[in-house]
Amino acid sequence: MIDYHLHVVAHGDRPMSVENILEYCEVAHGRGIRQMGITEHDRYLDEIDLAAFQEARERSHDVGLRLGIEIDFVPGAEERMDRDASALPYDYIIGSVHRVDGEEVDRAGDQRIYERYETYDLYEAYYANVRKAALSGRFEVLGHPDLIKIFRRFPDRDITPMLEETADAVAESGVVIDVNAAGLRKPVGEIYPARDFLEMFYRRGVPIILSSDAHAPEEVAMGYEKSLKLVHDVGYREVATFKDHERGSLPL
Ligand SMILES: [Zn+2]
Ligand SMILES: [Zn+2]
Repeated sequence: MIDYHLHVVAHGDRPMSVENILEYCEVAHGRGIRQMGITEHDRYLDEIDLAAFQEARERSHDVGLRLGIEIDFVPGAEERMDRDASALPYDYIIGSVHRVDGEEVDRAGDQRIYERYETYDLYEAYYANVRKAALSGRFEVLGHPDLIKIFRRFPDRDITPMLEETADAVAESGVVIDVNAAGLRKPVGEIYPARDFLEMFYRRGVPIILSSDAHAPEEVAMGYEKSLKLVHDVGYREVATFKDHERGSLPL
């Protein structure tokens, strides 16, 4: 099993020291994780300590370590995205949509964006960005593809066509979907993506990774009983892996 989207530095919470990385590895090992990918937010790029990562990778025998990065996808910020995505010898690049019109949609303390937009329009703008991110060719993985549901603010109208269109774009792009258990810890209380959305990806042959999006050691692989049941019920029998941008797979 793998946990391929998590944060050690998180939001500047702790340094990326060998000890801190190994603490994550220990929890991962205890929870049956064989490969763990560290994917800091790109705005904390300067806090990624490559030497510490490499030493931890050598010292971690039970858990294979990978280095990725989570790029905050913003149309118009191509220069920043390209710079961050090529700054270090990553194994893979996650592109995540956190914003509509440059503004974050997942800020617990400030949900005013949900007042300013009609909910359906906000969803349309969000998924338009998700399609752009997938088709941009910049990313190997698309992070938490339905983050917009985080606060349980759902449109009245059926969004199935917009999800289908998004799944089409993802399938066309060849990116891998992040099945991310962090939603279980948020008001929405469910995994990203929702089951019907994940089924759309499965029907189109889109591969997946599994992740906890941990921002602390105790969150590594958190929620995996539910993630494993979900992906298995939908039909998935393997997860994608990456090394030096080469995609492989592991059985579930
Ligand atoms: Zn994210
Ligand atoms: Zn993340």
